This record gives sequence, C-alpha cells and structure tokens, in this order.
Amino acid sequence: MEIVGRVADVEKLVREARADGRTVGLVATMGCLHEGHLTLLRTARAAHGLVVASIFVNPLQFGPGEDYAVYPRDLDRDAGLAAGAGCDVLFAPPVAEMYPQGLDSMLTYVTVRDITDRLCGASRPGHFRGMATVVAKLFNIVAPDVAYFGQKDAQQVVVVRRMAADLNMNVRIVAVPTVREADGLALSSRNMYLNPAERQAALVLSRALGLAAARLKAGRRDAAAIRKAMGDLVVGEPLAACEYVAVCDPVTLRELDRVEGPALVALAVRIGKTRLIDNLLWEG
Ligand code: AMP
Repeated sequence: MEIVGRVADVEKLVREARADGRTVGLVATMGCLHEGHLTLLRTARAAHGLVVASIFVNPLQFGPGEDYAVYPRDLDRDAGLAAGAGCDVLFAPPVAEMYPQGLDSMLTYVTVRDITDRLCGASRPGHFRGMATVVAKLFNIVAPDVAYFGQKDAQQVVVVRRMAADLNMNVRIVAVPTVREADGLALSSRNMYLNPAERQAALVLSRALGLAAARLKAGRRDAAAIRKAMGDLVVGEPLAACEYVAVCDPVTLRELDRVEGPALVALAVRIGKTRLIDNLLWEG
C-alpha cells in the first residue's frame, strides 16, 4: 500500500492503474478506522483492481462547537488497518492540499438543496455542503468507477447519490450495510467518546430501531405512531437526549404519514456530549 498526501501523487497512481486496465474503487473516510470502514474496503477490494481510501478530517463539514479539533487522528494505526483490508492507495492529504486558498477564501461549494435541510441537516447547518464539496473534490481527484459509502450515514448516501446524478458525475454509488457491535450498537468513530454508562445508554438507538422494525413487520403503518414510540423509548433513557426521529421517504427524506412502501427510519440522539445516529431502511 502506498500512502500519499498530494493530489498529484494519487492522480498518478490512478492513471497508472487505469493504463493497466484496472477499475478503481474509492472509500472516503475521516480515519479512526473501524470494522465498518474495513468492510467498505473489503467490498471495494473484491470488485476493483485499485482500491483507494482517503483519510481526511474535513474542516468544512464541522460546525462551530463540533468535534473537529478533538476528532481522533492516528495515521499509523489507520494505515495498518487499511492495508490489512486490501487498500492499495491511502490518500491522507493535509488541509492545505485540499483547500490551498484557505477555507475563508473558498468561492466554490456544492450545495444540494432541500434534502440537506432535513434530519441531521436541521441541526448541522453547512454540514452537508461541506461533505458534498469534499466528496465532489475526491471524485474529481480519484475519478473512481465506484464509491462505497456506509448505510450508517443514510442521509450522506442520499445526498451523494443526488449530487452525482444532478451533476452527471461518472461514478456509481454503492451503499454497504451498517456494521454493528454484537449488542446492536452501530460502529462509529465517535463511540470512543462514550464512558461505560454512556456506552450502555447508547443501545437505545438500535433498540428504538428494533421497535420500529417490529411494528412494521406486524403491519402497523402509522408513521407518527412509530416516531412517537421511538421517541418515548429514547426519553426513557436518562443519559439520552433525542435530537430527531424520522420515518421518511428514502429519496426525498420527507416525513411519511403512512408507511406503504420503502421508508427510512432514522434517529439522532445525544448521549452525554456525544451525538450518535442510526437508521434502518425498510424495503416495504
Ligand atoms: P467516516 O469516517 O465516519 O466519515 O465514515 C467513512 C465511511 O464509513 C462512510 O461512508 C460511513 O458511512 C462508513 N461507515 C461508518 N460507520 C459505519 C458502519 N458502522 N457500518 C458501515 N459503514 C460505516
């Protein structure tokens, strides 16, 4: 595996692989790799001659008061894990390589409207603009055939798909199912912020989704009643503060009245200072 920090170097490696007839898979991450990220990498490995992973804690997608400064960074550890999962090129640029003019002088952003105001977008203004902008840059730098994203960040998948379609980006977006701990907690780099009591309390997210799934399987279609039951369950956990519960259309992210077809059931919960998200995609 090659570790590169310069755009020109990753472009060269991709060009060489393409000249050999290899296809390119991209996994974009913020590092602090765990089994979720590694599953994306292994999925890409099985399908492509060249697997590129990026590690970039993107300042543009963090709001004031969010955890940009303290987000865990350990390139040596991540490099070992990425190599073990079959990564060929690890692109870990410094901030100045991605934003050479400086963040305050940026003139160009990718703004996806409407769907970015919903769910997580409601409490994280600017987050999806920052995410879409950096993902567009990574798509332009790496020019992957396929980019792999975790279903864990369901809204990210929806926004990236829409951006790629609207802007005719020549990349296929593949969503990979959420990887969980044995007790149901979705893996997240932010889980390491949790103390033992909070780690236990964090199970409220997957329990709330389990409750929604049970209702839907039982044929109960009232979306408001599902949101209410999930919200009540979260309120019952003293260490948890519910930010939102959504039972929405999986493409428009508009809240549903009744679940008659596919639905995205999603929630964001603060456990102490840590904001966690989880979701399930109901196929209908
Ligand atoms: P992050 O480093 O948090 O930006 O995540 C990088 C990629 O890994 C995103 O596409 C995430 O959706 C994905 N990812 C994070 N956690 C998981 C998980 N538990 N299961 C599957 N994919 C995940």
